[in-house]
Amino acid sequence: MAMKTISFLSIISFLALTLSLVIASDPSPLQDFCIGVNTPANGGLHNARAVNNAVGSNVTGVNVNNLPGLNTLGISLVRIDYGVNGQNPPHTHPRATEILVVQQGTLFVGFVSSNGDGNRLFTKTLNKGDVFVFPEGLIHFQANVGRSPAVAFAALSSQNPGVVTIANTVFGSNPPINPNVLARAFQLDPKVVIDLQNKF
Ligand code: MN
Repeated sequence: MAMKTISFLSIISFLALTLSLVIASDPSPLQDFCIGVNTPANGGLHNARAVNNAVGSNVTGVNVNNLPGLNTLGISLVRIDYGVNGQNPPHTHPRATEILVVQQGTLFVGFVSSNGDGNRLFTKTLNKGDVFVFPEGLIHFQANVGRSPAVAFAALSSQNPGVVTIANTVFGSNPPINPNVLARAFQLDPKVVIDLQNKF
């Protein structure tokens, strides 16, 4: 009887430990708010941002790093400007689900499910006012497929969502990943890998 009680308790504590390890979102706040530093918020998201860069887009974040009042609240915001043919390249947020609304223009958006779920691609073409969600941790992108610049806003379920841009992290790491490793991983000639590493 005692043994049964002990193993039951072991299972319960194992489950509790497992559950505590798999909580991936921001923890629930312990107070109404927690303003760490008395700094005024930045200038807001009124104006279009320059998109004259390699990918033709610009992401402006409002998160705990520039709006300290978000501290402990588990939420943040971005404005994304896209030039004609511009894109927000494949990336992932390690700590947040993202919900996006198009404010102007036409975007082709999508995300890919994880390996265990068959790496399935989900896409949609969005117009002004349309909404799409990118689940936490999954690789996603948006591309401007309209004839004019586009603007979107997105909310993220973390005060500090983080961003991992695939091309930059894989081919632009510091120091670089050994080209032979990437050549095998991506089934490419090492010279192509070195060319990509020079770009990023
Ligand atoms: Mn995103």
